[in-house]
Amino acid sequence: MSSKYQPVIGLEVHAVLETRSKMFCSCPVVDSTIGEPNIAVCPVCSGMPGMLPVINEAAVEYAVRVALALNCKINLTSIFARKSYFYPDLPKGFQISQYEQPLAQNGWLDIETADGEQRVAIRRVHIEEDTGKLTHVEKGGQRYSLVDLNRSGVPLLEIVTEPELHSVEAVRNCAYALRSILRYVGVNSGNLEKGLMRIEPNISIRPIGSSEFGTRAEIKNLNSFRSLERATTYELARQEQLVESGGRVVQQTMGWDDARGTTLAQRSKEVAEDYRYFPEPDLPPLVLEKAWVEKIRKSLPELPHARRERFVATFGLKPYDADVIVAEREVADFYETAVAAAKVADAKLIANWLTGALFGLMNEAGTEIGELRFGAKQLTALCDQIAGGKVNPAGAREVLGVLFAEGGSPASIIKARGLQQISNTGQLRSWVSEVIAANPQQVAGYLAGNAPLLNFLFGQVMQKAGGKANPAAVRSELQAQLDASAK
Ligand code: ADP
Ligand code: MG
Ligand code: ZN
Repeated sequence: MSSKYQPVIGLEVHAVLETRSKMFCSCPVVDSTIGEPNIAVCPVCSGMPGMLPVINEAAVEYAVRVALALNCKINLTSIFARKSYFYPDLPKGFQISQYEQPLAQNGWLDIETADGEQRVAIRRVHIEEDTGKLTHVEKGGQRYSLVDLNRSGVPLLEIVTEPELHSVEAVRNCAYALRSILRYVGVNSGNLEKGLMRIEPNISIRPIGSSEFGTRAEIKNLNSFRSLERATTYELARQEQLVESGGRVVQQTMGWDDARGTTLAQRSKEVAEDYRYFPEPDLPPLVLEKAWVEKIRKSLPELPHARRERFVATFGLKPYDADVIVAEREVADFYETAVAAAKVADAKLIANWLTGALFGLMNEAGTEIGELRFGAKQLTALCDQIAGGKVNPAGAREVLGVLFAEGGSPASIIKARGLQQISNTGQLRSWVSEVIAANPQQVAGYLAGNAPLLNFLFGQVMQKAGGKANPAAVRSELQAQLDASAK
């Protein structure tokens, strides 16, 4: 994006509320990306005439949890509305949603941007139901579509931000922060690939300094964070080129073609009037008791942002490292358990081994923290061994590899593999003198001012020690003997 225009972006996020049953009937919520179609369907969610919806209390509770976590004002009375449109996967011909009086509104969420922290306003949070799914088939010269209603009537939460994100980075961080909150409060697993969380950016640009809004395009079908970033970047550039060449952005809904890396016009944007919203006659207003809402508020866990601040303040972590750790509630819990168990290691050392070597192994193997073969206290035990000088970093990495593959205890792995670090012994001293004696040329070179040769000599000692020597002790012993031979 050139410096002439400012991106203006608002997000609409749909998150499946992963309750046991659907929003208005007792059909189970099943994974609609696997298994048989149309196995979780009843007269209500298949839109049979005369069937009456019943509100799922668990879904309302989930929705309130998210709304509170987003600092929203909860409307103790909210109203379900019919949003009419025709689509073959919407058997009733309308979707039950909320329009004029949503469950919650006027919240906010703190995110990181290149220019520091930003408080993003949340316009509204409302409950609705999902549609079914169509599969378009082309077989034997025939073209037809199949409908699967497993997803029809699954509870959805829609979260709408104000249009105040001004970079691709802010868009990504806002989406990540929302996902993290959904996961923290335990309502959604945050899986974009499976469509459990769907992010739709509304994108416009305006000349820098202008306070008016440009016309926006809304992008659908983004099933990864990578697509969200690529599509937003592409769309901003497309709009800029269009405006620069004298054209005008038209308000429309666009799709994202991931293979071609382009946004595509899908349909001109509907306006609210097209949907003929009116209060759902089959449902009473949704009335919540204040005490019930307050009980939910008290049950919320510490949220990622607050936890991050606390980690920075009490453990001295860098904000970035704290961010990485708090993004997943289970990871943050693991870390806190590890820190609490430490005898010698400090919180930073544990954070380094967690986000460095351990995350590396987990990413490579696709392992979640809950699937590890060892517990947080084993990570602490390893870090205590490192901090106590019992094992050097190379040895510790080997121990972690064994923990990861088989489990066990660091002390016994160190013993079994002979990884005890050798520091400050006669052994270390004689390795250093042997290396000095065996490399007269390099020693002379170093003493004549070729400083990098020190690393060569250091490497020779470490090799002699089979990698088990304490690197710091080797360095100081080597330095001492070289200084002595210079005299
Ligand atoms: P609709 O419900 O028709 O999609 P809304 O007015 O509720 O439209 O806005 C939906 C989303 O679009 C919100 O996230 C909002 O922040 C964003 N938005 C509204 N106007 C603009 C604009 N000019 N540029 C970018 N985003 C916008
Ligand atoms: Mg919209
Ligand atoms: Zn049903």
